[in-house]
Amino acid sequence: MDRVRKTADNISKIVPYDPKYLPADAFLSANENPNDVPDDIRAEISAEIDKVQFNRYPDPLANELREMIADANGIDRECVLVGNGGDELLFDTALAWGGPGRIFLNFPPTFSVYAANANLTNTDVLNIERVPENDFAIDEERVLDICASDKAAFDFSILASPNNPTGLISPEGFIDRFLQATDALIMVDEAYYEFSGQSVRCLLSANENLAILRTFSKAFSLAGVRIGYIMASEEVIREYIKVRQPYSVDAVSQAIARVVFAHRDYFLAGTKRMIAERGRMLEAMRRMEGIKAFPSDANWILFRIDDAHRCWEYLYSKGILVRDFSSSRSLEDCLRVSIGTRGQNDAFLEALQAFLCSR
Ligand SMILES: *Cc1c(COP(=O)(O)O)cnc(C)c1O
Repeated sequence: MDRVRKTADNISKIVPYDPKYLPADAFLSANENPNDVPDDIRAEISAEIDKVQFNRYPDPLANELREMIADANGIDRECVLVGNGGDELLFDTALAWGGPGRIFLNFPPTFSVYAANANLTNTDVLNIERVPENDFAIDEERVLDICASDKAAFDFSILASPNNPTGLISPEGFIDRFLQATDALIMVDEAYYEFSGQSVRCLLSANENLAILRTFSKAFSLAGVRIGYIMASEEVIREYIKVRQPYSVDAVSQAIARVVFAHRDYFLAGTKRMIAERGRMLEAMRRMEGIKAFPSDANWILFRIDDAHRCWEYLYSKGILVRDFSSSRSLEDCLRVSIGTRGQNDAFLEALQAFLCSR
């Protein structure tokens, strides 16, 4: 660029986020739900969208949806905030709790969006690496030591549970001690909580510094619609409302999410089937020679294999797109496969076995 002034240093050096989206028969790369919203629920959605006034601004706080989420979780409406996907709320977290001179505590390898948002907002990052030998668990004692020795070591932290892309949840007992050990904001990202069946929701009432993130993109089949939410204390939600874009959640998305949430039992039944598929996949992969498959509480399996990038290419040549982490730090030789439909999972297992035999 020479006829336009440069962006700020922290922006100009950023490489734009690339979801590595490629055409394929089986998309097993983005942890989406392999099943779209069924026809009868779509019909209800269409009826709700018909009622939307397109010329009017949406309800900024999506109060109807907010109320449904609050009721389902046994908390007040003021303790819920809906966002344009979980990603918007992650960005708002960095906007509100980060900034120049402030510090974000991160647990890599984890969701890359966290560190990217810190960079965008000029927030310093303190990394505590997860332990590969322990299925990428967090080094709990180290975290608690840091909290005990320096109250100002960090201003906020985000802990994915289950952790993407490694797979396991963090134990509730540790999260409880972590919350008690600091007054920094701790966000627990439960984007995949419907697949783990474990939530730290019960820690909300005793911990004003806890925020829980959820999304409609995974279990609820709405990755294309962009709805996520936070549950936290009223005081924390008020800080989020200060930094958010007032109309980020459009009226059509609000209507779609209300119908889907009202039918959540239907989607949770689908989740159960995916959990069973996860068990079947893990078992099959563990029987294969030359693969280390990591345990998972989510809707994907991370695995280590020699020649991982060649394996990725081979799978792609068979129409199967998985996520290649083999050039990411601490994830050398690792690929991540999302749980798909039974047919897609079988195609993946067959192709993986064929790759192993071809070597
Ligand atoms: C998918 C995901 C989210 C949220 O995604 P949205 O589509 O923006 O709601 C948040 N955290 C993690 C770890 C995810 O994998």
